Amino acid sequence: MTGPPTSSRPPTPFGHLSREAPDRAPDRAPDRAPDRRALCRLRRAPYVLVVDPYSGCDLGCVLCSAPLRVFPRPGLALSRFLARHAKRVRGGWARIGRACDAYPLAEDSYGATRAILEELASAGLGVEIFTRSRRVLRDLDLLRSLAKRDAVRVTVKIPPAPRAVTVALEPGATPAPDRFALVAELARLGIPAGVEATPVMPGFGDDRRSLGHLICAADEAGARYVRVTPLRLEARVRPQLLVRLAELDTQGAERVLRCFGRRPWSPRFAERVETTAQSLRTLYRVPGEPTLPTPALPSRRDFPTQLALFGAA
Ligand code: SF4
Repeated sequence: MTGPPTSSRPPTPFGHLSREAPDRAPDRAPDRAPDRRALCRLRRAPYVLVVDPYSGCDLGCVLCSAPLRVFPRPGLALSRFLARHAKRVRGGWARIGRACDAYPLAEDSYGATRAILEELASAGLGVEIFTRSRRVLRDLDLLRSLAKRDAVRVTVKIPPAPRAVTVALEPGATPAPDRFALVAELARLGIPAGVEATPVMPGFGDDRRSLGHLICAADEAGARYVRVTPLRLEARVRPQLLVRLAELDTQGAERVLRCFGRRPWSPRFAERVETTAQSLRTLYRVPGEPTLPTPALPSRRDFPTQLALFGAA
C-alpha cells in the first residue's frame, strides 16, 4: 500500500486524490494457466492491429477473465509481425490493451508496453492505449512525441458505479477519482485522452444521473470522447462477480441475473444504456468515439533505430 490516507489528501474537483496507484495484492480468485494467445492480431478499421503486451493482468479486478499471473509477450514476435505486414498496417492505428490492461503492475519490472509503444511508433502507426492505471504517465516522453504527429489517444476506463462499488471490484487499479485527474493531466500535457465508461451494470451506475455525472466529469477533465460499454458477464467470472455484488447490495446480484439470465450479454440492456448515453452525449456535446486521422510518419530523429525494419530512407 502506498500514499497517505484518503482523508488527509486535498480535495479536487473529482474528490480526494492519491499520488500513486495502490500496490495491493489482487483480491480475485484462482489463478489460471498462462494465456497463449498471439501478441497481436490484424483487424479491420478503426484499428489495423490489436496488441496485448502482457498475457495476463495483476490489477485483480473481480469481473476480469484475464489470468492473474502476468507474462510479457516477446517483442521480437511483434518486430517480425510488423515486418511481414508493413504495407497493410502502416499509417493505421493500433490498439494496445484489449484482453489485458496496457499498464499492469508488471510493467514496472518488464517494460513490455513501453517497448511495444516504441515499436509501433517507429513503424508509423497511430496508437490508442486502453488503461485503468496512472502508470501510463511513465511513458510521457513517448506519448508526447506521438502526440506531435497526432498519433496517440489514451482511453482511461472508469466505471460509472458508486465509489465503494468501484473500490471493491477494481482493488488494484488507480482509484476512480484519480482516473479523472489522469485524464485532466494528459489533456493539460497535450496528450489526447478520452474515457470509456465501463462496465455499466444493472443498478450500478446505469441510470441517467450516474452516466450524466460521469460524462460531465470526463468533459470537465478535458476528455475528447466518452465511450459507454455495458457489462459482459463471462461465465468464468460470473460466480465471483455475483457473490461480490450480493455483498455490496442485497438486490445487486438479483438485478444482474434478471437482466442477463444465463447469457453473457443482454442486447436489451445494452440498447437502453447506449440510448441513454447517446442522448447525454448530445446534450453535453461530447463525441462517443475519438477521431483517428492518418498519423504522420515518424522522423528519423524520433525513432532512429527502428526505421531500418522497413527499409525506410
Ligand atoms: S485492469 Fe482490466 S485487464 Fe486488468 S484486471 Fe482489471 S479488468 Fe482485467
